[in-house]
Amino acid sequence: MLDELRGIVGDRYLLSGDATGPWASDITGKPPQPPLAVARPADTAEVQALVRACAATATPIVPAGGRTGLTGATAAGGALVISLDRLNRVRDLRAEARVAVAEAGVILSTLHDLVAEQGLMFPLTFGARGSAMVGGFLSTNAGGSNVLKYGNTRDLVLGIEAVMPDGSLLDLMSGLRKNNAGYDLRHLMIGAEGTLGIITAATLKLVPLPKAWATAMLALPDMETALQVLNEVQEATGGGVEACEYMPGDYVANYQAMRPAAAWPFEGRHDVNVLLELGATSAEEAAPGPDGAIPLVSRLESILGGLLEQGRLIDAVVARTEAQRRAMWDRREAAAEVAATRPLRRTNDIAVDLDRMPEFIRRADAVLQRTDPGAERSIVAHLGDGNIHYTVWPTSGDDARNDAVTEAIEEIVTEMRGSFSAEHGIGTYKLNSMRRRKDPVALRTMRAIKDALDPQGIMNPGKLLP
Ligand SMILES: Cc1cc2nc3c(=O)[nH]c(=O)nc-3n(C[C@H](O)[C@H](O)[C@H](O)COP(=O)(O)OP(=O)(O)OC[C@H]3O[C@@H](n4cnc5c(N)ncnc54)[C@H](O)[C@@H]3O)c2cc1C
Repeated sequence: MLDELRGIVGDRYLLSGDATGPWASDITGKPPQPPLAVARPADTAEVQALVRACAATATPIVPAGGRTGLTGATAAGGALVISLDRLNRVRDLRAEARVAVAEAGVILSTLHDLVAEQGLMFPLTFGARGSAMVGGFLSTNAGGSNVLKYGNTRDLVLGIEAVMPDGSLLDLMSGLRKNNAGYDLRHLMIGAEGTLGIITAATLKLVPLPKAWATAMLALPDMETALQVLNEVQEATGGGVEACEYMPGDYVANYQAMRPAAAWPFEGRHDVNVLLELGATSAEEAAPGPDGAIPLVSRLESILGGLLEQGRLIDAVVARTEAQRRAMWDRREAAAEVAATRPLRRTNDIAVDLDRMPEFIRRADAVLQRTDPGAERSIVAHLGDGNIHYTVWPTSGDDARNDAVTEAIEEIVTEMRGSFSAEHGIGTYKLNSMRRRKDPVALRTMRAIKDALDPQGIMNPGKLLP
């Protein structure tokens, strides 16, 4: 088997034994699970040949990108890892059509840099952008910080190319904005976590790159006011808000403890802190005036000034330089590092309706103190899209009690008709939640699709479907 695979990708790109080490674990740092081997194909044809060889021998396959996923979805004990990292070409960049055709192994930040040279932006962004790859973020339907303006990954993909579990090629590569010719299989592959096939390339939607940003940290009396302020800024700016991120006071304190040299956002400490960012694509809003002021920044300052006068804001700080803006973003994007400052943690990546976020947090806090008195939590939230990362720091490694906390939090989410997995996916870590909480008809339908497309169950087995 290994000889056959070696024949497809060449000696150098078929790794076995110790050489598979980096693929035995992922960013979550769980104990390593050595794969059978790792193949690093150069192109789509090699991916097809590898999959055909695996299909002929019913060998399990785990597709891998940057391995930054947070749900154990690239665990590969005994499987052949097909790493897409060498499919790293941007095949085409058509600025006028606002599309980029990128292979699965293109790293998100590389894509950002490349399209920025044309004054364009691929809007998806999140903390792992320096490692996450096209195939990986499509397969988890990643969300990130700009969802309120541009949507999830699903909203940013026009075409897709994928190798199916029998080695055939699904060629849906187009830049069409309208296409109602039957089931939209593109959306089946996006978010499938590699269980239905291997994405080899995608046509991605681009938007104009903002020429200027106006970024502010706001301190507010409560989350309800924060949501009202977001809505008002949206109205005042014609929907110009690019990101609106919530950080409670204890999160900011924990960040500060982790990075003692970082500046504290305000003079005092506040329970509700929000990072708000606007972007301007027009020269009128983005070009500095005679006094050096950027009109977009002045506009935001005047809106915030009005809100301060009305007493709706406690405090506000607007970034004056790119370094100040980056410092504001570091505070938010360090959430995974902050969560990892304690050895024991359980993450809950939940979504509820925007106006129910404060209720969720209140109820989850109450349930946590009842079930595990003394436990702490670290919260950050994408306020503009209802996604709350509620990480529990339990008092001990008592699995039964920690499971009880997770289930109680899920119960709240279910009652609120929310989601127990907003943007990170299911992988292996959320299989129990999927079993308990997913609508049974939806689960049955998913299994039918999986059985129809992958009857041998070789594509990323043991992930997503309980
Ligand atoms: C610091 C940090 C911040 C993050 N912030 C966010 C955030 O704000 N929002 C968010 O949504 N997510 C976030 N994530 C998680 C995010 O889901 C992943 O980082 C990213 O989407 C996965 O890309 P990857 O290339 O690393 O994929 P991997 O981890 O390698 O793979 C993820 C899944 O996709 C499958 N897969 C990989 N490549 C392919 C392919 N070519 N074809 C088919 N299946 C494939 C894998 O089998 C696995 O199931 C964050 C992660 C980190 C570490």
